[in-house]
Amino acid sequence: RTREQGGNHYQFYTYTMNDKILNSMVMETKMRAALENDEFILHYQPQVNVRKGKVVGMEALVRWDSPEDGLILPQDFIPLAEETGLIIPLGEWVLRTACSQNRAWQSAGYPPMDISVNLSARQFRQARLVDMVERVLRETGLDPRYLVLEITESVALQDVDFTVATLQSLRAMGIKIAMDDFGTGFSSLSYLKRLPIDILKIDRSFMRDVVHSPQDAAIVSTIISLAHNLNLKLIAEGVESEAQARFLEKKQCEEIQGYLFSKPLPLPEVEFFLRRFRL
Ligand code: C2E
Ligand code: MG
Ligand code: MG
Ligand code: MG
Repeated sequence: RTREQGGNHYQFYTYTMNDKILNSMVMETKMRAALENDEFILHYQPQVNVRKGKVVGMEALVRWDSPEDGLILPQDFIPLAEETGLIIPLGEWVLRTACSQNRAWQSAGYPPMDISVNLSARQFRQARLVDMVERVLRETGLDPRYLVLEITESVALQDVDFTVATLQSLRAMGIKIAMDDFGTGFSSLSYLKRLPIDILKIDRSFMRDVVHSPQDAAIVSTIISLAHNLNLKLIAEGVESEAQARFLEKKQCEEIQGYLFSKPLPLPEVEFFLRRFRL
């Protein structure tokens, strides 16, 4: 490599870095405007108890419905929202919309079900999270026992004392706590007995090959017995096939969320799904 090439390489590098910063500044401005203009929407993915043949919950999943760029998925805006702090107002909007929607389904006469809402690291660490959640529940009129808040292992383990205290306050209100993407955090299992949680969600990365890979099958079976032994509820994520569902049913994991039953649905299709659903 000549010095000249090195120089060019360096130039190129700074150029793309500036580009990246500019890009995220443009994105941030767009995202602020989007929040003002109500461009965020929620899709809802059903959670089904296969033994009971019932829809037991819905997970609220945010999308950005941009007039310019179409439907944008969370992986393309949540990280920046997290970096810029916009996740705080966005997250409150998600929680309020999800709670009020669940209340509306109950008022419309659908059998009561849980609504699950994801909390990112910054949301979970925000000052007055507990007050905010309490206020949203009061204002939307949703009974707290129908709300599930999802956090990941890595969020939970950032400061375990804080996590335990916060989760205790949330559960004291009657809210349930789910550990999302369980098994991907590479963390020791000993923390599980310290954390006041209700539900383990088995990460979908283990589900993909569970039928053919003895390793994945072993991991999933182990997570299932762990949950049973610790008296935790279980939800398997990313279930796409009958074969995967049968595997889970045999291991007594009854609750399933995945494309087998439904993709995340826009609101009008949720009601269609609920009316039509029979196992
Ligand atoms: P997550 O909470 O683990 O949500 C499950 C993700 O798996 C969703 O992706 C869902 O569409 C996808 N999925 C569900 N079933 C299947 C399946 O059978 N096969 C496959 N291949 N995928 C499936 P989505 O909606 O793109 O969300 C991605 C992540 O973004 C979520 O992962 C969550 O961590 C985050 N997220 C979504 N909405 C919110 C939100 O309102 N607030 C926060 N803080 N994060 C959110
Ligand atoms: Mg989730
Ligand atoms: Mg997950
Ligand atoms: Mg995830």
